[in-house]
Amino acid sequence: MKLAVLRERDPGEPRVAATPDTVKRYRGLGVDVAVESGAGIGSGILDSDFDAAGAHLGAAAATVDGADAVLQVRRPTPAALAGARDGAIVVALMDPFGNEAALAALAKTGVVALAMELIPRITRAQAMDVLSSQANLAGYRAVIDASYEFGRALPMMMTAAGTVPAARIFVMGAGVAGLQAIATARRLGAIVTATDVRPAAKEQVESLGAKFIAVEDEEFRQAETAAGYAKEMSKEYQAKQEVLVAEHIKKQDIVITTALIPGRPAPRLVSAAMVRAMRPGSVIVDLAVERGGNCELAKPGEVALVDGVKIVGHLNVPGRIAATASSLYAKNLYALLEILVDKATKSLAIKWDDEIIKATALTRDGAVIHPNFQPKTPA
Ligand code: NAD
Repeated sequence: MKLAVLRERDPGEPRVAATPDTVKRYRGLGVDVAVESGAGIGSGILDSDFDAAGAHLGAAAATVDGADAVLQVRRPTPAALAGARDGAIVVALMDPFGNEAALAALAKTGVVALAMELIPRITRAQAMDVLSSQANLAGYRAVIDASYEFGRALPMMMTAAGTVPAARIFVMGAGVAGLQAIATARRLGAIVTATDVRPAAKEQVESLGAKFIAVEDEEFRQAETAAGYAKEMSKEYQAKQEVLVAEHIKKQDIVITTALIPGRPAPRLVSAAMVRAMRPGSVIVDLAVERGGNCELAKPGEVALVDGVKIVGHLNVPGRIAATASSLYAKNLYALLEILVDKATKSLAIKWDDEIIKATALTRDGAVIHPNFQPKTPA
């Protein structure tokens, strides 16, 4: 069996889908690994590192030629897969929502496309959960980016020249990214508060040493779905939340927003008026900027300045800590590949009735097979 790791084509993507460590593990499964030259550069991995781990280095065409499996960070173009075996698996973040035409084109190549962002959040698949592995790093990096933009120190310091107060950090959304942001901000000595609409978040926030702030009404008590995600809140709840946030945010130095609702635009939590009510020198980091933004004034890919308040809208935040992000992403992929390779025959053996495969498989035999991403038939 041959596995191909291609260099990312998007200039904004420094991550890579394998590391020398996972190459060695694939070799241990009896799989040959080909890596496109230069694939690891953005994550600090040299061709010679991959070579030492037992990979074959080469140009793109030679890498993909005869491959049974192709690993990427982002969805490859159909052209990039020319030469792969018929029915080869392609594993990547496929960004399937709203991209029906691209999925149809991918299907036509005859590959089996597996979308890493659709890995179900079940115990058996925890090691494959890229949303968690990357969100955790984004939460960490958000605090580092905020402290970089902030002109003051985060911890309290008592010096001969006077006392420096601790910074106040408010984290909005206490899921995977938010909880890591809270933990990081606490480690750096900030005074941390956090909010969420799911009641389960309260205890988690408090266990990290932060204060929980939320509108805790009846709707709040019902806000978590069976899958553990937040629901979209009613207009009435949003209005109450707005009053609470507006009052709280005025006293904050840094606000980190991470709130998301699956399949919906990110909830608007920080209005232009709230930004203008903050002190000059304050910083907002909007981790939801790629999904429409939690802050009304956040601009994707920019650090906007509004009345002295910086609003950070970096794209691909896990890519800003690329070496660590790649190492965890590569391990997530390896955990999935491990259940796709028959250890005795050392060949690809897809169990189509496995719930992990059913949840992630987008294409098969030339067609889009995932029920949620069927091509729209003209009315
Ligand atoms: P997410 O990225 O979808 O959303 C981030 C956070 O934003 C969530 O905590 C959500 O409640 C919050 N949010 C949404 N709307 C909001 C609003 N209007 N105001 C304030 N906050 C709002 O969530 P996530 O980080 O993927 O985590 C979702 C849940 O899944 C969490 O309970 C997490 O612990 C759980 N989880 C489970 C597993 C597993 O079982 N394998 C793995 C990862 C996460």
